[in-house]
Parts: sequence; C-alpha cells; structure tokens
Amino acid sequence: MRLLYEGKSKRIYEAEGDLVFVEFKDDVTAFNGQKRAAPPGKGEITARISNLLFEYLKGKGIPTHYVRAGERGFYAKKVRILPVEVVVRNVATGSIVKRLGLEKGKKLSPPLVEYFYKNDDLGDPLVCEGHAIYFGWATEEELKRMKDLSLKATALLTDLFSRAGLRLIDIKYEFGYDSDRNLLLADEISPDTSRIWDDEGRSYDKDVFRKDLGDLVKAYGEVYRRLKGVLG
Ligand code: 5GP
Repeated sequence: MRLLYEGKSKRIYEAEGDLVFVEFKDDVTAFNGQKRAAPPGKGEITARISNLLFEYLKGKGIPTHYVRAGERGFYAKKVRILPVEVVVRNVATGSIVKRLGLEKGKKLSPPLVEYFYKNDDLGDPLVCEGHAIYFGWATEEELKRMKDLSLKATALLTDLFSRAGLRLIDIKYEFGYDSDRNLLLADEISPDTSRIWDDEGRSYDKDVFRKDLGDLVKAYGEVYRRLKGVLG
C-alpha cells in the first residue's frame, strides 16, 4: 500500500477504492512531540481499543470514517479533516485546571465542550466559535453538528466505560468530510486521545506516559480487557 501520510502516532496508506488504511505505530509522544517513546505492542493495543470503540459508536448510529478492522489498524473512508478539535470534559483535569484554576477532579455536569485550533506550530490553542467562523476553519452549522455528535458520542462512551468499571474523564474528537460531503467522526478514539480513570482515580490513558505513572502498554491492555468484558 502506498504511504500517504505519516504522523506522530499513525501512518495513513492508500487502500482500495475510496478507502485508506490507518496503521498505529508504537510511537507515543507528549507535550507537542517533546517527549517520545515507542513501547513494543503500544500500536497494536491502541488499534484494538480504537476499533472496538468505533464499532460500538457506529452500531449506535454515530457517523464515523471507520469501515472495518485490519492488522494493527483499520480501514476508513478518506476524509478531509477540519482544523478544529472538539474536547468534551466530564471532569476537570489537564489544561483546563491550569487555565481556569479549577480544582482537579471537579465534576462538569452537563459535560463542557471546548474547541481547539489544530495547529502543531501553535501547540493547538484553545479557540472560541467566533475564531473558527471568522477564520473559516468551520462554519456555525459545522460547529453545531460537531458539538452535537461529540456530546452524543461522549454520552455513549461514558456509559460504556462505566459498565467496564472505568470513568471517561475527557476526550478529544476530530471530524472530516468524505467524498460525498458527509461530516464524519474521524481520526482515532483511544486512551491516547482521552482520559480514563478507575474509581480510585488511577489513570489508564496517555497520562501514564506524560507523567511517568507506570507501564503504558499494560494500562491500555487493562482498558481493552475491561471493554471486551462488556462488549464481548
Ligand atoms: P487537555 O486540553 O486537558 O490537555 O486535553 C483534553 C483531552 O483531549 C485529553 O484527553 C487529551 O488526551 C485530549 N487531547 C487534546 N489535544 C490532543 C492532541 O493534540 N493529541 C492527543 N493525542 N490528545 C489530545
């Protein structure tokens, strides 16, 4: 397969028809690429979790670019990604705690939605709807649709994780247009792009790597094991 694009944690290959193959690398990076590692097995377990979560959301009627699972990745519709990331927070932690001086662990109910401008050179800054519309990154209608789908997906995933004995703390989504101009949930859905805690507040996500909390592949393996236990 011809390589179309290589990012920090994934490679995108051209596949049959209008499809691409998204392959997960072992590479993990944090702090805009300043901290990096490549623990063996990390790509495979992240792919397994992402495939499971896409299958689940697809089954619940969320439009996604995901088509089918493959080796260490998945086949997806080719999409043009919008440069706006949507973060949904159930609990305050991470950047919002520093930015607004909130108490870590404060419950955010109903969930809070934030937008970030997808731009590595700028470190993905927080933006408001006005910026996105003014600079043409997304229209008002597109933002509304992305927000709506992000909240629906988060409600479904929060319920799923809770059945697996885990708490979905926050999560980042990306969206893109396919060739028929359908707006689809894209990129990946995994512990690389979300925060997942157990009832004692232990992390099972990329914070394990960001903060040197233990074995990342083992933590992701536990997420997969628990999700499989619920989804079969
Ligand atoms: P925060 O804004 O607190 O750093 O991140 C909020 C949530 O979005 C976390 O679950 C974090 O992992 C995810 N997130 C935000 N931006 C990015 C990004 O550029 N890459 C990845 N992998 N996750 C992100």
